[in-house]
Amino acid sequence: MPHLRVLVLGGTTEGRALAGRVPVISSLAGRTSAPLLPPGEVRIGGFGGVEGLVRYLREERIRAVVDATHPFAATMTGHAALACPVAGVPLLVLRRPGWTAQPGDVWHRVPGLAAAADVVPGVGRRVFLTTGRQSIAAFAGLDGCWFLSRSVEPPVPPVPRQLEVVLGRGPFSLGAERELLLRHRIDVLVTKDSGGAAAKLDAARALGIPVVMVDRPPLPAGVPTAGTVDAAVEWIAQLG
Ligand code: NAP
Repeated sequence: MPHLRVLVLGGTTEGRALAGRVPVISSLAGRTSAPLLPPGEVRIGGFGGVEGLVRYLREERIRAVVDATHPFAATMTGHAALACPVAGVPLLVLRRPGWTAQPGDVWHRVPGLAAAADVVPGVGRRVFLTTGRQSIAAFAGLDGCWFLSRSVEPPVPPVPRQLEVVLGRGPFSLGAERELLLRHRIDVLVTKDSGGAAAKLDAARALGIPVVMVDRPPLPAGVPTAGTVDAAVEWIAQLG
């Protein structure tokens, strides 16, 4: 019997892991010049909004969609939640769990990047920004702070006046994160609540460095979710 045609909206470790477990078509946005490609069939680039995605699902005879995008890729997630019912295709959101503060953590939870930029100057002056290059603009007006920013690709203006950029793609080791924080005399870490491997949070805890934690955007109402790749594999299997 032929496999169901399943579309995985990817760009994450979980998306790649799922593509390694079941035959799927993986979709990447095409943001990075050298993306980590999942196994199997891959398509790259936007669909052209909700209408474009509906058209794609119909033309490609897709029978199920797993949205395994990053927890902060809210536009893509919203588009999938609108397009799938129109095309009559079941949708599962695969999201790794967010982080939970542990003893020793000093976290300032904020609802978004603008709120993070508001609280940072009151928490520290030497800022390690790990929210991704598209988020740097939110901090561009903070002239009183020095920033170390880490992203896969170089950021584009507007950026903070006092900025050093380090390029890199995780996962990072605890030792390397500790060394980076110490070498740059970081006194506040800014991160999205991405979940997953978290050596930077372990290093910040060990060094007593406070963290500004940007909360996840809400998920669309009524869409089933899975927290693990195993659960997503089961969901696909039960579709028959
Ligand atoms: P976004 O703001 O939610 O989406 C913006 C537009 O990019 C979407 O409307 C869609 O264009 C296109 N797009 C996004 N994800 C896509 C995918 N997997 N396949 C095809 N088109 C996609 O997305 P983003 O935050 O820029 O993230 C882009 C990609 O990077 C995602 O795949 C995400 O998983 C990955 N990523 C994001 C973050 C983050 O912090 N946001 C971190 C790590 C990885 P159309 O409207 O034209 O369809």
